Amino acid sequence: MQTVATPPPAAVEIIALTKRYAAGTPAAVDQIDLRIESGSYCCLLGPSGCGKSTTLRMIAGHESVSTGDVLLDNRNITNLPAAARGTAMMFQSFALFPHLSALDNVAFSLKMKGVSKNERHKRAGNLLERVAMGHLADRKPAELSGGQQQRVALARALITEPRVLLLDEPLSALDPFLRIQMRAELRRWQKELGLTFIHVTHSQEEAMALADTMVVMNHGLIEQVGSPHAVYNHPSSEFVARFMGGHNVIDTPTGPIAVRNDHMRVRGADESGLGAVITDVEYQGTYVLLGLEVTQAAAGRKGVSVLLNEATFLGHPYSAGDHVTLSWDAADARVLGPGVKRPSARNSTARTPRDELAAEAA
Ligand code: ADP
Ligand code: MG
Repeated sequence: MQTVATPPPAAVEIIALTKRYAAGTPAAVDQIDLRIESGSYCCLLGPSGCGKSTTLRMIAGHESVSTGDVLLDNRNITNLPAAARGTAMMFQSFALFPHLSALDNVAFSLKMKGVSKNERHKRAGNLLERVAMGHLADRKPAELSGGQQQRVALARALITEPRVLLLDEPLSALDPFLRIQMRAELRRWQKELGLTFIHVTHSQEEAMALADTMVVMNHGLIEQVGSPHAVYNHPSSEFVARFMGGHNVIDTPTGPIAVRNDHMRVRGADESGLGAVITDVEYQGTYVLLGLEVTQAAAGRKGVSVLLNEATFLGHPYSAGDHVTLSWDAADARVLGPGVKRPSARNSTARTPRDELAAEAA
């Protein structure tokens, strides 16, 4: 395999970054602060419309910034054109030119820069070799599988020698089987290239599989920043607990808590605990998922689920309609905070995502 010099990865920092598409409307991205480690895989995660793509496009230079700054290795790139930033973008469905060969797709941006045909074909060929596509350099996109197209798209993004690769839902056009295969490849490439990747997705499963750092967004704000393990095991708010899934949110006299559905115990109705009725039983192979309704819970907060391993379930094969009690170890209860406030509603002592990062690192 030929090697291509890869420039050192860069850390990205965004400071009070804001995007307001129209005056008088809520900000699509509202004064967010974030520092992304050099050489890390960062996933921006959140429901549709929460501001992920807007944030990514402001980093890329494809969207103007209303206020705030974008720094790449402490260099302020906020007002630089996209091509001068040291970033490159890989889009959903790869956006390859259908009439160009893989080689010419990869070489395209060098052509735009006036690089000679020999030189750009040599560099594009090297990159295609690097992503194990050298033997298919003459094929058009329609003659390539989805996975092969992704590799061409990656090579095309890398030809500008970016310090940071930005990916907006790069896997969402693929069928589920290929998506899982391709995400493993993305992860492998990121480690091999040692670049900083910032990947936007609405799938918590995808973010957990890929990220060194997950950034959970909601309504233009950052709700939580941390490793997949930290965010999954210590959701900071009800929004994060529900969005990540696998948790039950339960009201207690001291406020709401989250308990993972595989950390809940189910016992007979005469035991102490939270009374509930089983509403459904779903066999999932290794696990059995019980759906339950908590008897004494506010409307809208009655539904909970419990994931039992198959052997535990077979010890007590509950069925729909059974009355049971639910309990958990105090150590497995996570106290939920109120969630992040809009900057306009914050006071100076409020914790920011940056404080959380610092707390996690400490
Ligand atoms: P996500 O990528 O998380 O789904 P976006 O960043 O695309 O979210 O959108 C955030 C918000 O900004 C949404 O309310 C969306 O409707 C709005 N928005 C996005 N792009 C534009 C645009 N070009 N003009 C006006 N509003 C936009
Ligand atoms: Mg988007």
